[in-house]
Amino acid sequence: MNVLDGERMSGQLDARGYVPAGEDEDADVVLLNTCAVREKAEAKVYSALGVLGRRKRERPGMVIGVTGCVAQVEKDEILERAPFVDFVLGTGQIERAGEIVEEIRRERRRVLAIDLPKDSPVYRFEQIRRGSPFQSAVTVIEGCDQFCTFCIVPFTRGRERSRRSAEILQEVRALVEGGRCEVMLLGQTVNAYEDPDESFGLGELLLRVSRVPGLKRLRFLTSHPSLVDDALVDAMAAGTPIAPYLHLPAQSGSDRVLYRMKRRYDRTGYLATVARFRAAVPGIALSSDFIVGFPGETDADFEETLSLMREARFSNVFAFRYSARPGTASARWGREKEIPGDVAAERLGRALALQEQIQSEINRALVGQRFEVLVENRDRKGLLRGRTACNRVVHIENGDGVAAPGSYVEVDICRGLPNSLIARIPVPVTAMPEGPPW
Ligand code: SF4
Repeated sequence: MNVLDGERMSGQLDARGYVPAGEDEDADVVLLNTCAVREKAEAKVYSALGVLGRRKRERPGMVIGVTGCVAQVEKDEILERAPFVDFVLGTGQIERAGEIVEEIRRERRRVLAIDLPKDSPVYRFEQIRRGSPFQSAVTVIEGCDQFCTFCIVPFTRGRERSRRSAEILQEVRALVEGGRCEVMLLGQTVNAYEDPDESFGLGELLLRVSRVPGLKRLRFLTSHPSLVDDALVDAMAAGTPIAPYLHLPAQSGSDRVLYRMKRRYDRTGYLATVARFRAAVPGIALSSDFIVGFPGETDADFEETLSLMREARFSNVFAFRYSARPGTASARWGREKEIPGDVAAERLGRALALQEQIQSEINRALVGQRFEVLVENRDRKGLLRGRTACNRVVHIENGDGVAAPGSYVEVDICRGLPNSLIARIPVPVTAMPEGPPW
């Protein structure tokens, strides 16, 4: 979502005649698009601002703006701590970035725009400067109503607001006509989507979008386990172009911790949801998020997390050490429930090691199977690299001259590594010339 916000703001500047400045060039306008989901990302904002402040002393005409989630929570504190910042733009005001930059260059005054709208979001999607010529993200819902006790997102992105499906379909059609055949529908809780006019949910939206002619792959991110319904499972079971891949954050395997996180499901319910998808969608790959060292997490709770990972066998896991975000419920619980840093680090190491072992086993078992891959780019060794529909990274050993970034190609998996697969494009078998065997 953050990357897409950046693309939206870049597009607004393009439309006003600005061109991108290189890393080493002196830019006239710098927008710092920020993330508040972890403590480290937030600290980086102030250190980046220190560098920009020094640059601005040499170029006083420069316009500096802070946008995104840190802007939304820190608000006027940024303007106070960094007096050289010209504007602070919250997540609900991204559509105004271009016009505000122009206003500041004209009137040289400071702007704070942080209102979170309550209405269905409307974008000038044709103005977005898309990063990839063959893949694109499309926001379908903004905000979150879940208020998990550790999470800052409901405060930085506001309450849920779904986009009209007619506009989403219009955007997807335009993307596919422009050659972007892989589309990812985005939302903080994407399966909370509800069309403002017809009240249908994500399952029906997926089916409608999947019927856009020329669309090759349709993904969506991020689903909340408690909001999975039959319509979503059925839509995924419909198959291509809906990709057999689901990111379903579990966060913990312990009922006690899940309750304290206010996740609204328990371990049994989560595993039942996993089983539903596995039964309905052949070959589905599931990935997940985990927070390790949540306040009050005991050794036994953590063992439950490891056992859930063993049971669910995710294709990929994003695991992080808990970090308190100011303003959230868990940050107010006080220090006595905090898990010491070395204990949390040790648990994280164990979770990652277990997942690496599971991924190695899963990936080795894929050797000999054939997948269609969208070639995305090249790896460090210069091999073409792409992704399967189930979101697995594939390095292609013999891709040169046959495939290129943006093309779809069938490959046979020849090796499974913990984080990726090595594959070859099958070589057509040449018929032996007819005649006597000499
Ligand atoms: S559902 Fe996701 S975005 Fe919403 S509060 Fe929970 S973790 Fe944050």
